[in-house]
Amino acid sequence: MKSNSIKTNKKVKEILSILDEMYPDEVCFLEYGCDWQLLFATILSAQCTDARVNIITRDLYKKYQSLEDFASADIEELENDVRPAGYYRAKAKHIKECAGELLKRFDGVVPKSIEELTSLPGVGRKTANVIRCHIYHEDSIVVDTHVKRISRLLGLTDTDDPVKAEFELMKIIPKDHWSRINLQMIDHGRNICISGRPKCEMCKLKVCCNNYLS
Ligand code: SF4
Repeated sequence: MKSNSIKTNKKVKEILSILDEMYPDEVCFLEYGCDWQLLFATILSAQCTDARVNIITRDLYKKYQSLEDFASADIEELENDVRPAGYYRAKAKHIKECAGELLKRFDGVVPKSIEELTSLPGVGRKTANVIRCHIYHEDSIVVDTHVKRISRLLGLTDTDDPVKAEFELMKIIPKDHWSRINLQMIDHGRNICISGRPKCEMCKLKVCCNNYLS
């Protein structure tokens, strides 16, 4: 048990150090000007690329400039405005309801705690952690599709459940790395560890990747 833990710590350290070397300056890929804009952009980003979300929100935030605008939006018009993001009915509904809840319960300010954030319509732990990480600069691990997939390949977790993965990763990754591991793995997943066709030969992580070494 003890030697496993030492081996795991060593391996985690190695992975994090390689990620820092490969991706030293990661920033949030979603464009936003204020807290609720990042919240709604993150809601839109489910099953949609950040690049597409950015295209959508550039027009969306010109048309709807306040929470009041979203809360009073005509739902069919809003659905049409977010249609390119996919799942547009659910996303429009969540954004409109979220705007209303923020005004009613939080004086128009996106809350900080995970409990309050996940009490908002359409906000799960992933979205809540994006807000905690980028708005409040709280150490948080955002487990999106890239983090879940690459963590499994590397052998950092073996679960397919994003919430379980978040808690497992929190146990083994030092807190000061929590917030950047998501951005680093997104970059890695987009450019090297591409789903279904990973470029393992050019990946610096291959020296400690379970998938490559097995
Ligand atoms: S070695 Fe291959 S599978 Fe492992 S992280 Fe790199 S690209 Fe992904």
